[in-house]
Amino acid sequence: MKYICFLTWLIGLAVALYAGPKLNVVASVPDLGDMAKRIGQDKVEVVVLATGREDLHAVPARPSFLPKLNRADLVLSLGLDAEHAWLPALCAEARNTRIREDAAGWVETWPGISVLGVPAKLDRSEGEQHPEGNPHYNIGPQCGPVMAGNILQAFSVAAPQYANFFKDNAAVYTGELEKLLHELKEQGAPLRGVTIIDYHPDVPYLCDFYGMQAVGSIEPKAGVAPTAGHLHTLEETGKAKKVQLIVYNQSQNPKIPRQLAQRISCATVEIANAVGAKKEIRTWAELQRYNLTALLNALRTGQGDR
Ligand SMILES: [Zn+2]
Repeated sequence: MKYICFLTWLIGLAVALYAGPKLNVVASVPDLGDMAKRIGQDKVEVVVLATGREDLHAVPARPSFLPKLNRADLVLSLGLDAEHAWLPALCAEARNTRIREDAAGWVETWPGISVLGVPAKLDRSEGEQHPEGNPHYNIGPQCGPVMAGNILQAFSVAAPQYANFFKDNAAVYTGELEKLLHELKEQGAPLRGVTIIDYHPDVPYLCDFYGMQAVGSIEPKAGVAPTAGHLHTLEETGKAKKVQLIVYNQSQNPKIPRQLAQRISCATVEIANAVGAKKEIRTWAELQRYNLTALLNALRTGQGDR
């Protein structure tokens, strides 16, 4: 009996060794980490840099990021300059040629998404944070399957021996996402036609999915603080367009949204800008459900989070 147990253990060990090393994946944000784990499962080692509570444009760089990036086979990021202020410099400092911006290991998950807010010309003057179009597609439910597809593609190229395994996992996952999208669309029907103002312009994909209309942003340009004049104009617009909700996220100061909401006489609502923004948001699917619930509650009560 002992001999059989030993033999079984030996065969298990041989299979594990034959399977080869895991793919080392670093995800810039927890949204991509969640998807990477679902698709890669036990064939990938996933580490995530941001906690999800931060402003995605300004994640504080920690010394612990460098060894993680140094070992990485792939770095997954939202791209479109979402992580421009912190990730490329860290990758360069990590001394790993596999994950330079021009290398195969640098993977952005936006290709295939209809990018919104693409400016006529690239311009980072005045601190514009969206020079290549709006990068906050991770909170748009419709973008999930495309993001997952890009991760599948990158994994299959980096570790072709597991391509079928990744493909099967991705098929199950995207099936779940399609079902989720259907549920969200049904439950989110009351949001159709609702007018909103956002803080940082980070909800256009969310608006697109639910049929909400954003009539302005507290920041006159992404990353630029509002002036008194801009807020006055926004108040007038908000009243004229009968704005119902002012939407901000957990990384933003609620003071200005609440003051503006009082002047316009509407509700405020705090949503989450990423997985991990709240402790109960552990997966990308939970992020979408959390935001829908927050929006519907604010709309129904007219009180928002005040
Ligand atoms: Zn932004």
